[in-house]
Amino acid sequence: MPACKERTHRPAWRVVVRRANYSAFNGGRRTPSAYSLLRCTECGAAWRTKAAYVSDIPNG
Ligand SMILES: [Zn+2]
Repeated sequence: MPACKERTHRPAWRVVVRRANYSAFNGGRRTPSAYSLLRCTECGAAWRTKAAYVSDIPNG
């Protein structure tokens, strides 16, 4: 799914998985990663990023 490009949605962004991923290949365990999974609760977009702005987004 593409990232949310709508600037006005930014307050609706939430971090679903911070700096990790859950791989189906290792039984769904949490694996540390540079990337976080974000979700826009306004338009439903979900994307992974390692951008610095992740530290400003609340968990959700
Ligand atoms: Zn959005």
